[in-house]
Amino acid sequence: MVLESLKPRIVWEIFEDVMASTPHPSKKEEKIRKKIKEWVRNKAEQEGLELEILEDTAGNILVRKSASKGCENYPSLMMQAHMDMVCETDRPEGFDFDNNPIPIRIQDNGEWVDADGTTLGADDGIGIALGLGILFLKDEQFLHGPLEVLLTVDEETGLGGAMALDPQVFNIQSKYLINLDGGNLGTMIIGCAGGGNTEFSMEIDPKLSGSEEKLQFFELHVHGLLGGHSGGDIHLPKASANVLIMSILSHLNASYDLHLSSINGGTMHNAINRESIAKFAVSKDHTEALKQSFIHIAQEIFNYYQAGDDKSLHFEPNMIIDLTETQPQKSLEVQLSSKIIASINLIPHGVLKYSPTIPNLVETSNNLAVIKTSDKKITVISFARSSVDSEFKIIRTKLVQIATFGGWKIDLKPAYSGWKPEPHTPFLQYVTKKYEGKLGRPVKKMAIHAGLECGIFSTKILGVQMVSMLPITEGCHTPDERVHISSTEFIFELLKEIITDLPAIL
Ligand SMILES: [Zn+2]
Repeated sequence: MVLESLKPRIVWEIFEDVMASTPHPSKKEEKIRKKIKEWVRNKAEQEGLELEILEDTAGNILVRKSASKGCENYPSLMMQAHMDMVCETDRPEGFDFDNNPIPIRIQDNGEWVDADGTTLGADDGIGIALGLGILFLKDEQFLHGPLEVLLTVDEETGLGGAMALDPQVFNIQSKYLINLDGGNLGTMIIGCAGGGNTEFSMEIDPKLSGSEEKLQFFELHVHGLLGGHSGGDIHLPKASANVLIMSILSHLNASYDLHLSSINGGTMHNAINRESIAKFAVSKDHTEALKQSFIHIAQEIFNYYQAGDDKSLHFEPNMIIDLTETQPQKSLEVQLSSKIIASINLIPHGVLKYSPTIPNLVETSNNLAVIKTSDKKITVISFARSSVDSEFKIIRTKLVQIATFGGWKIDLKPAYSGWKPEPHTPFLQYVTKKYEGKLGRPVKKMAIHAGLECGIFSTKILGVQMVSMLPITEGCHTPDERVHISSTEFIFELLKEIITDLPAIL
């Protein structure tokens, strides 16, 4: 045992014996599901506790404990966390996350738990340990109403477990939910964004026209960009290579007839893309003039992203934009090329709206994520997010209209809901009071412009009031991930108080 000396004992026992000792990458949760069910069953038997353990077809697990004596009228409360983890290592030899336990350790200063060269899986193993730990608390003073602990699968790759959840299957009773997967000591999450992909596609038939000798072919290359997360980074002055290449093509197309061959940029819907390449031709008579126009527009872009001598204002310090002459190739006719360029360029990118209630929170955004040309098809993927579902619908309607004008086929991929921040629900006010009383200073309430499972629960569990909290964790999704020991104890004690005094909100 590595964590034997840490408090609260039950939390670190679950973290080490259940979570860290059992492989649990996303979409490979069979081992951890089995381990959790076995461990909870055995421990409950040892302790003489009666717990109900349920599992649905997606692999989500619900553990239910009935109220302690005399507390049958207390409202039911749910704690929720996800079972899967992101697997990253910086060990040169790699790390087999499918078969090995996580090499946990206590850092030298005794303040943190981390893993030796791998992600730790505190996201969200510490949430699981806190939630289940509460059920095994052996404190006579700990009076509680009915408790439900919901453990989901496949959160990290797209919230699959939460999406598959049917509250009827588990007969979920709770209208108060604490999501143990977001926030930090002194900060609670009270809202998140929903999102969904919109895919544009068009069949194309590029040809050699036979008059290639009259055309000059070019390759336009935008690269060296920093990139970033399309949620958390969308408000930053980061360039999207797709946006830049479309605006250069649009600028050139305003003066010259372009024959488009291909545009390619981006691979992931949730990343701001770093590199794009477009191939096109122009009449040979215009070669020199087009090059001059290119230099002009490229200079304007550099003036914006690498302005002046102050390096801190160089938002894209490594950006490169090249235009080079290439060999003739198949291309599209001028009118269609123009329509494709204009309609992709019309797809909005970046922050579309800030929240009117939460300062500095991006409410709605869109990411021009992927443009891909294959032999006979051009595809564009745009990923929109909003914490307000009606605002998400507005941006999607605009995308459909752009597609219609541009002659694209459109495919609206399934979207997940946002969690609209409502800072004044009775539950949130109650939890805030408890948290601040214990912490001795104001607690920050934050909403994030990224997905959390709470967004999905807000539409599935009618009338649910939620909050998300967690001990201090750092470096999640990287080999530097670590969790803070004493803040874990703080959150555990806070959960106890919230549960025991819960009737106060009625
Ligand atoms: Zn997580």
